[in-house]
Amino acid sequence: MVICASIFSILAWAFPVDAAKPLKGIFILLDPGHGGSDSGAVGPTGLKESTANLRVARYLGMLLKADGAKVKMTRETDRFVSLKERVEIADNESPDLFVSVHHNASVRKTAANRAEIYFNALEQGIPLKIADSMAAGLTPKKGDLKTEIIPGGFFVLRNNQCPAVLTEGSYISIKSVERGLKSSRGLTTEAQKFRMAIRKVFEHPPVRVEVFSKRPAVVTTAFPRFIFAANKTISRVQVRLQPNRDFEFSFAHLPILGESYLLYNNKPLPTGSYTFSMLFYGIDGTVSRLVKLPVQVKLPIKNSVLLPVAPYIATGMDGDFPLTLVLQDANGRLNPRSLSFNAKWGNKTFRGMTNSEGKAAIVLPLTGKEEGPQTVEVEGESEVEGGVEGGEGPMSEGGAAFRETIAKCTIELTFRVFGKRVFLILMKIRLNRGFDKLAFLSYPKLGPTSIRNCFQQG
Ligand SMILES: [Zn+2]
Repeated sequence: MVICASIFSILAWAFPVDAAKPLKGIFILLDPGHGGSDSGAVGPTGLKESTANLRVARYLGMLLKADGAKVKMTRETDRFVSLKERVEIADNESPDLFVSVHHNASVRKTAANRAEIYFNALEQGIPLKIADSMAAGLTPKKGDLKTEIIPGGFFVLRNNQCPAVLTEGSYISIKSVERGLKSSRGLTTEAQKFRMAIRKVFEHPPVRVEVFSKRPAVVTTAFPRFIFAANKTISRVQVRLQPNRDFEFSFAHLPILGESYLLYNNKPLPTGSYTFSMLFYGIDGTVSRLVKLPVQVKLPIKNSVLLPVAPYIATGMDGDFPLTLVLQDANGRLNPRSLSFNAKWGNKTFRGMTNSEGKAAIVLPLTGKEEGPQTVEVEGESEVEGGVEGGEGPMSEGGAAFRETIAKCTIELTFRVFGKRVFLILMKIRLNRGFDKLAFLSYPKLGPTSIRNCFQQG
């Protein structure tokens, strides 16, 4: 689900643009496709796609540098660079834009020429703007088809953390196109079109956002709040939460802190691992790159429930009597945390661990001689590493670890004799710190063995 929250700001924003260097401060990583042993497509008279790609990228790089941009290339020469390496370069360099330069081929001799711009469909901010801008600039020549904008799953797009597009400027397999790609005029014309498209999008500097949180952020509240600082006034933010949940986010300006913003959810998040993917939109129509914030919500154990296997057991039963321990959060939801615990019953202690669903089985080995109230005491302790209570920033890197102690919970199971049967009448609960209340849910699902144990005896 995508929710857009708007904030209103009366702050004016000035756009300092250097007319001579319109791309000053912008970093573009150019990726000439193929190279070395991988020639890519080959034109009718033998022009390698890898060569045409490198030539266009070189011209484009020169033009972008002339505009003040910082430019790097994934390859400068005719050499083989794997797709993985290309993505690694992008990850390390973290440019404002990654442009992979290719030229298409068709097996059909009659195929009409056209350009195709692929963009990473998972990030619709800058890549889509660039694709739109390129398509608008690549006006088809007579007989050419309209430029297509295609959400693409290419490796260098799919795995790229940076805003990325892949251009197929023309069909190298068409004889007249190949001729054009052999001439510096043809190459510069294409490069010039890409340059102007990039200039149009970065005419105003993109929104840059700093997240005040270590990654992953570990929070112990169902309502984490995150603070972001931006280089300009933000008008709205688009948030996608994975795993997908029905949650609402609000976004607020923190006026005393300049361009700082608070993002928070209005519906409680249960314990779990999430990724917030966010696009920030400036009031000037610019957009940020996709900001991903992994968040681990580890809610304290607020309620825990001991569920007996059955409401009664038979007199003198000397079998196993299972209980299910269920962890809950303050909102009464299942709290799926793995937590080690000690369960004490009489002079016996059982060590156990709740599973990743926050549940564990505790088995009381009844001897048949038990009488009166039976007390089961469950005590647990967990640690949330490097967490910051509330998830509020600014958070320092490697924040201090803290211990979260789950308070003791005592549950008294009272057995009362009615004729031949012992009834479990009461669960008296003594609550200490951290436990507000203890609730009955429902009886757990039982395996056939447990049930037989309970009812066959006596
Ligand atoms: Zn290619």
